[in-house]
Amino acid sequence: MTDDSVSRLATVSAQLQHAAKLGQHATPTLIAVSKTHDADTIRPLLEAGHRVFGENRVQEAAAKWPDLRAAYPGVELHLIGQLQSNKAADAVALFDVIHTVDRPSLIAALAEAMDKSGKRPDCFLQVNIGDEEQKGGCAIAEAPAMLETARSAGLPIIGLMAIPPHGLDAAPYFALLAKMARELGLAKLSMGMSEDYEVAAMLGASHVRVGSALFGARA
Ligand SMILES: *Cc1c(COP(=O)(O)O)cnc(C)c1O
Repeated sequence: MTDDSVSRLATVSAQLQHAAKLGQHATPTLIAVSKTHDADTIRPLLEAGHRVFGENRVQEAAAKWPDLRAAYPGVELHLIGQLQSNKAADAVALFDVIHTVDRPSLIAALAEAMDKSGKRPDCFLQVNIGDEEQKGGCAIAEAPAMLETARSAGLPIIGLMAIPPHGLDAAPYFALLAKMARELGLAKLSMGMSEDYEVAAMLGASHVRVGSALFGARA
């Protein structure tokens, strides 16, 4: 699996370029989601020159990435998993982009951490685009107010992020997220995973989050 990741990276990149062109959009940034994978599995992509990675847990990222970062300058690390407020300071210290801002308590914790550290990672507002129970993200109707809350707290919100309902056609959810972003005046869209990154690219994703299509299935 490991040595295959480099050829998969080339394939996925070409597919993204093609799909984005069809939709008349810029090619999205490919976030290689390396959660659960160890440094040896990640290294071939770094050796091949890839620098944008995603993790879903602060602690796991803190264990893996400081060494990799030191060895491969220019890494851009994205937090794509739900964030507890008590880990906000660690997240601000570790990540360059945070995709999962979704509630006032977290906004307050992130703002405090950013004010203290002087580091301001770009943030996405996560939207519960399928209106699912148990799913992260703010309700669609709450998004404008949440954006306002985040902005007045000083968070640099650059776009919207969502995970569509599992097992359904993702395209209408991606289109809905894109429409929301347009209406809110936000330029960036974090949407699309291994199952649907091409559709997401066609519909204007600026960032796709791809794990298993690069690294193989997770244990
Ligand atoms: C794990 C994860 C991904 C990547 O999933 P794959 O299906 O392996 O591509 C993308 N986004 C989020 C939020 C994730 O947790």
